[in-house]
Amino acid sequence: MPTSVTRPAIRSLEGWAIATLQEAGAIVECEEHGWMRERGDPHALARALELARDDPPRGTCSSDAVAAIEQVIAAIGDSCPECSRP
Ligand SMILES: [Zn+2]
Repeated sequence: MPTSVTRPAIRSLEGWAIATLQEAGAIVECEEHGWMRERGDPHALARALELARDDPPRGTCSSDAVAAIEQVIAAIGDSCPECSRP
């Protein structure tokens, strides 16, 4: 089986991380604008990290999955940029 397929792994891993964070309830989508915002719930974030560790996406090791979660959460603010616009 050829395993040297160079897919845009970063991109899809990021998508997976966002979906996982949403599933865990660590981030929510602004209903009005569709921006992701952090809920500031440490338990939800811990759950997402646990999911990453225990059940990383296929072809990804758990440390990469955890890193992806941390990267996504670091890039997401705790408020919707449009809602917080003056
Ligand atoms: Zn908004």
